[in-house]
Amino acid sequence: MARRKKIYEGKAKILYEGPEPGTIVQYFKDDATAFNAEKKDVIDGKGVLNNRLSEFFMTGLNQIGVPTHFIRRLNMREQLVRSCEIIPLEVIVRNYAAGSLSKRLGIAEGTQLPRPIVEYCYKDDSLGDPLVTEEHIAAFGWASQQDMDDILSLALRVNDFMSGVMLAVGIRLIDFKIEIGRVYEGDFQRLIVADEISPDSCRLWDIETGQKLDKDVFRRDLGSLTDAYSEVARRLGVLPKSNVTKPTLIN
Ligand code: C5P
Repeated sequence: MARRKKIYEGKAKILYEGPEPGTIVQYFKDDATAFNAEKKDVIDGKGVLNNRLSEFFMTGLNQIGVPTHFIRRLNMREQLVRSCEIIPLEVIVRNYAAGSLSKRLGIAEGTQLPRPIVEYCYKDDSLGDPLVTEEHIAAFGWASQQDMDDILSLALRVNDFMSGVMLAVGIRLIDFKIEIGRVYEGDFQRLIVADEISPDSCRLWDIETGQKLDKDVFRRDLGSLTDAYSEVARRLGVLPKSNVTKPTLIN
């Protein structure tokens, strides 16, 4: 059997060359990192849960006409995705104050924002992904004005979809981060949602209790991360509706 070609290894995922041109295999690791990898651990089952949850969200987005890179899940830890050129921005949408926004502006965590706020960070680990403005994005040519219009529209559509899906299972979508990729189709280029959407990249709070069901559980040592992610998966019907805390899979 031929060894597959590794394209890239990040903090939580590995990308391999896909079986057909223009495809990539995205492998979800169990590694958890926070604070730009200053805090690290291996969390049994996290990769399996994020593979399933990202599949769930990306499939839903594809179905409502929000284009994503997701093609299909291959197995417990891998999914086939469309290869794309990642725009070097982390696109953050916030509905309630939390995390770095609360710190930066002195707004108490959990305060509802007057409207969704979209922020951009420059994707560079060595710089700690600094916040940038559209001025920087335009001046340094990271994205065109047309791209920025499309990115904003994609980000807000993802927010509407994710907020609704979560609300239906008693979870408040506080904020999330997405990455956007560029694909070329003949003479045209199109932007699609790439990377992953999972509790690693969202803040999810139980509506009744305020319990955190996202990566803040790891960042702030609030308990078991797999229990939190399993709870999200269980409510969404991605895991069987029993008291399973380990990632038992259904097909
Ligand atoms: O840390 P901050 O409050 O800016 O994070 C906002 C949202 O973006 C959170 O849901 C966080 O999990 C996500 N995020 C991420 N990757 C980063 C930075 C933030 O997924 N590098």
